[in-house]
Amino acid sequence: MIGEVIAVGDELTSGERLDTNSQWLAVRLTDLGLRVMRHVTIADDLSSNIAAFRAAAERSDVTVVTGGLGPTADDLTREAMAEAFGRPLQRDSEVLDGIRALFRRRGREMPERNAVQADFPEGAIVVPNPHGSAPGFALSVPRHERLDALLICLPGVPAEMREMWFGTAADLIANRLGPQRRRIVHRTLHCFGAGESDVERRLPDLIRRGREPSVGITASQATITLRITATGADEASCREAIEPVERTIRESLGHLVFGVDGQRLEQVVIASLQERDETIAVFDATTAGRILESLGDADPQGTTFVGGTVVTIAPVPDLRLADAAARYPTRSSAERCRESFGASWGLALQRVVDDDSYEAVPTDDAGVRSEREPIEYLEITLTDGRHPHTRRFRFAAHPDILLPRAAKQGLDLIRLTLAES
Ligand code: AMP
Ligand code: MG
Repeated sequence: MIGEVIAVGDELTSGERLDTNSQWLAVRLTDLGLRVMRHVTIADDLSSNIAAFRAAAERSDVTVVTGGLGPTADDLTREAMAEAFGRPLQRDSEVLDGIRALFRRRGREMPERNAVQADFPEGAIVVPNPHGSAPGFALSVPRHERLDALLICLPGVPAEMREMWFGTAADLIANRLGPQRRRIVHRTLHCFGAGESDVERRLPDLIRRGREPSVGITASQATITLRITATGADEASCREAIEPVERTIRESLGHLVFGVDGQRLEQVVIASLQERDETIAVFDATTAGRILESLGDADPQGTTFVGGTVVTIAPVPDLRLADAAARYPTRSSAERCRESFGASWGLALQRVVDDDSYEAVPTDDAGVRSEREPIEYLEITLTDGRHPHTRRFRFAAHPDILLPRAAKQGLDLIRLTLAES
């Protein structure tokens, strides 16, 4: 069954306000088992609304409209629905009394203009709005030799729309889907330590269109997420279908998979430390406090992440000396940090410039590659006071992800070291 979302409002088409309702509704419709194939955003314009509603009824089994139910002249959803399907508006006196009562409770007289909010296209089912003046409505539109199209109109105010969704709209849709209703179950696996295409390459033909269960891949700030989606008659059969796919992914990606279903890297790290009854302190000379912030969020009591220092220092040169202490500047910082906070583990992050290896960089507007610049690395050391583990990563990426990724690289070194020790 096909779903569609229509958002109505000049403030949306002009870009003044972000249409968050469509995303919210699409997730809910998908959870009910509909395949949402289209989002439409239209201005407060009668003929565009009429055309959009007719097209939706033709191509989609269930359409949810949000916005345009207010009392003012620019709110046209009621009128457009009436016109689109030849269902003249009729005033519902019970709803009208309810709106009047709502105004009285707020100590005001109902402005006459608000009476239109009790108008519904002939044959509509009223969707009550417990905390606002604009009720919504649902309309069933017959189609030639096909199941009726169901269109549900909800207000644009996000809080009211959500309340009416849970109160009435979701049940109307579930009833309409009836035995055709399918369960959809998702399982997400989160990975770190490889790029999106690299992850995809390691998977044996799982991310193919039309495959069931389907596997989708997304990247957000260097975390790669694989989402397995199964559709079935009930939850148990969906989980059963997901299980072997998850196993294959885990076998293919090994230690790259760090968590499931929304788990974050810092939560995984804090949980493993807690399991071992160990603590950590962090010296951060790279991420401007991001790594401390995420550990602090995951351990608000501060019983596991016991302390940290943020400093801003220029990248230190890689001295390339035989002397290990000078060669790895993060080793002494990690150890000092561990000692001063009395932690089981000390982690240090620092930028290092390798003066020996240069790379060509574009220097002028024409992008001519002429000058050479030293290569910068992120160096991370994790130590338990006996065995320092040091790793280096190229410190270069889009500015939006450079520091978040560095923080995750620090967290990931903790995760991997704990897994091995
Ligand atoms: P309306 O029901 O069209 O009168 O919308 C009432 C208010 O809800 C608008 O002024 C917006 O602030 C907000 N709103 C309307 N549509 C959306 C939407 N699609 N996403 C987020 N907010 C919205
Ligand atoms: Mg509006």
